[in-house]
Amino acid sequence: CNSSFAAAGAKPLYLKYKDPKQPVGARIKDLVKRMTLEEKIGQMVQIDLTVASSDVMKNYYLGSVLSGGGSVPSPKASAAAWVNTVNGLQKGALSTRLGIPMIYGIDAVHGHNNVYNATIFPHNVGLGVTRDPQLIKKIGAATAKEVRATGIPYAFAPCIAVCRDPRWGRCYESYSEDHTIVQKMTEIIPGLQGDLPANSRKGVPFVDNRTKVAACAKHYMGDGGTTKGINENNTVISMNGLMSIHMPAYLNSISKGVATIMVSYSSWNGKKMHANRELVTGFLKDKLKFRGFVISDWQGIDRITSPPHANYSSSITAGVGAGIDMIMVAYNYTELINDMIYQVKNRIIPVSRIDDAVKRILRVKFVMGLFEKPLADLSMVNELGKQEHRDLAREAVRKSLVLLKNGKTADKPLLPLPKKAAKILVAGSHADNLGNQCGGWTITWQGQTGNDLTSAVKSAVAPSTQVVYSEQPDASFVKSSKFSYAIVVVGEPPYAETQGDSLNLTIPAAGLTTINNVCGSIKCVVVVISGRPLVIEPYLAKIDALVAAWLPGTEGQGVTDVLFGDYGFTGKLARNWFRSVSQLPMNVGDAHYDPLFPFGFGLTTEPIKS
Ligand code: BGC
Repeated sequence: CNSSFAAAGAKPLYLKYKDPKQPVGARIKDLVKRMTLEEKIGQMVQIDLTVASSDVMKNYYLGSVLSGGGSVPSPKASAAAWVNTVNGLQKGALSTRLGIPMIYGIDAVHGHNNVYNATIFPHNVGLGVTRDPQLIKKIGAATAKEVRATGIPYAFAPCIAVCRDPRWGRCYESYSEDHTIVQKMTEIIPGLQGDLPANSRKGVPFVDNRTKVAACAKHYMGDGGTTKGINENNTVISMNGLMSIHMPAYLNSISKGVATIMVSYSSWNGKKMHANRELVTGFLKDKLKFRGFVISDWQGIDRITSPPHANYSSSITAGVGAGIDMIMVAYNYTELINDMIYQVKNRIIPVSRIDDAVKRILRVKFVMGLFEKPLADLSMVNELGKQEHRDLAREAVRKSLVLLKNGKTADKPLLPLPKKAAKILVAGSHADNLGNQCGGWTITWQGQTGNDLTSAVKSAVAPSTQVVYSEQPDASFVKSSKFSYAIVVVGEPPYAETQGDSLNLTIPAAGLTTINNVCGSIKCVVVVISGRPLVIEPYLAKIDALVAAWLPGTEGQGVTDVLFGDYGFTGKLARNWFRSVSQLPMNVGDAHYDPLFPFGFGLTTEPIKS
C-alpha cells in the first residue's frame, strides 16, 4: 500500500508503540518520540477521584487517578459500578491523540479494604507474627483478584516500614520491628503482581491484566524510624543504620520486580525524603537499578515545605529533581501542570528528567498490558469476598495470634477453652464490633459480611452452652451470674496515620473497666485487639489468659478456632511488648531492653483431637 492510500484512512497507520509484538523498549522509545511536553507532563500527574472526570483526563492527558483514603465511588457500590467508574475515566484517557491508557490506584492494604463484602485480612502487624511468606503470597494473590474485581489494576501496597516505635500511628501497617521479618514478607509482591521469571534481569514482571495488579512498596524510606514515632517526622539515624534497618526490604522488593515505590513524607536527618536526590535517584534508581516508577505520597511534594504548599514551585523543582516520576496530587493539578511546563521551558527542570519519568511510567503500563486491554470487564466481580479468600484470611488470623499468658485454673491452663460449658460471658468494647476488629484503613464495616468475635464464639461452642454478651457488665452482675468463664475482648478504636500517634498507649477506659469488673472474680481470657502492644502489665495478675489478636479483619472465626482448641497457638511476637511507655523506643539489642514479653515470645497449645 502507498502512503496516500493509508492517509485516506482505508488502512490504519502502523504505530510501533501499539504493536504488542514489539519489545517493550522499542514501544517506549517510539511513543516518547511522538509525545508533546504537555502529554509527557500529563503522564506524571495522578489526580484524586473526587476531581476526576473523563474530560479532565482527556484535556490534561493525565496518566493516573487514585482513590485516596476514603475517596471511593461509594463503599457500598457494587463491583460492577466500580468497574463502570474506572472505565469511564479510562475512556477519557483513551480519547486523547495518542490514546495512552491511565492507571488507577487504590489503597488495598489488608485486602480490598475500600468496598463492602471484600475479604479483610489481618493488618500487617498480625501477618508478621506468622513469619509465613507463602501464606502472605497467597494473601497478595487473593487481594489482587478482589481489587481487579472492581476494575482497578494498581494497589498502594505493601507497606514495608520497619516500625521501631509503637507510638507511631502506622505501626500496624508494619510487619515487624525487625527488618528480616519485613524482608520475608515482601513475598506479598509476587502474590500481587505475579512472579518475575527466574532468568529475567531485575525489572518489572509482565502482570496478568486480569488477575494481578501492580504493587507499590512504601514509604521510601525510614518512615518507621521517626523520633517518638511521630508520623511524617524526622528519622535520626546514621547512613549505616538507615541502610541496615530501613533499606533491606527495598532490595527484596526490587529483586521481586516491584512496579512502583512510594516516597515517605518523613525526613532523614532533617532532609525531606521527597527532596532527597541522593537516596531517590542516586541510590534507588542508579545504584539499585530500580526500573519501575517512583510515586510521591499524597501531596508529598506540597509537604516539602512547612506549612505545606508554601513555595510550591520550588518544591516541584526539588521533588521532580530528586527523582519522583508520578506526582500524587490531591486537587491543584492545574497549578502543578502549568508550573512544570514553565520550569521545563525555562530549563529549570531538564527535559531528560521528564523523559526518564515518562519512560518508567510507560514501562509499567506496557508490561501490565494496559495498552492491549485498557478497559476492565466484569469477569472478576465474583472474586470479591469469595469463600476461598475468607478461608485464607481465617487461616491467617489463626497464625497471627500470640498467646502471652496461659495461667492455670484448677491445675490446668485455661486455654484451650472448653466448648461445652453451662454459661459463658463474652464482654468488652471489641467483642461485637467488626469496625474495631478491622482497624484503620477500612471503611465503616459494621453490618457487612464477616464474623465479629461474639458471633464467632456462638458458632464455635456446643449447642448446649449459653453465651451471654454484655459490652460492659458491672461487677455484681458478673459475680452473681455463675459463669463458667469469660472472654473479654478489648483494645484500641480504629485510626489511620497521624490520628493514631499516641504517647500513652493505654487500653481505653471502657476496656479497663471491663477487665476490672470481670477478671479476678471469674476465670477470664483477655483478647487484645490493637495495632500494637498496649500497656497491660498493671492488669496482668488478674488476667488468667492473655491473647494478642492484633487487627484480625473480617474473619473472627480464626480467633475462636484457636481459643477453643481446633488449632493450636503458634504465633511468636514480631515486636517486643513493653512494660511502660517510658521505655520507648526499645528494640532488641538496646542497653535498656527489658520488655514484658520479648520479641519472639509466644506460648503454644496443642490442638484438641476430636
Ligand atoms: C498515605 C499513603 C497512601 C496515600 C494514598 C497517604 O496519606 O501516606 O500510604 O498510599 O495516602 O491514599
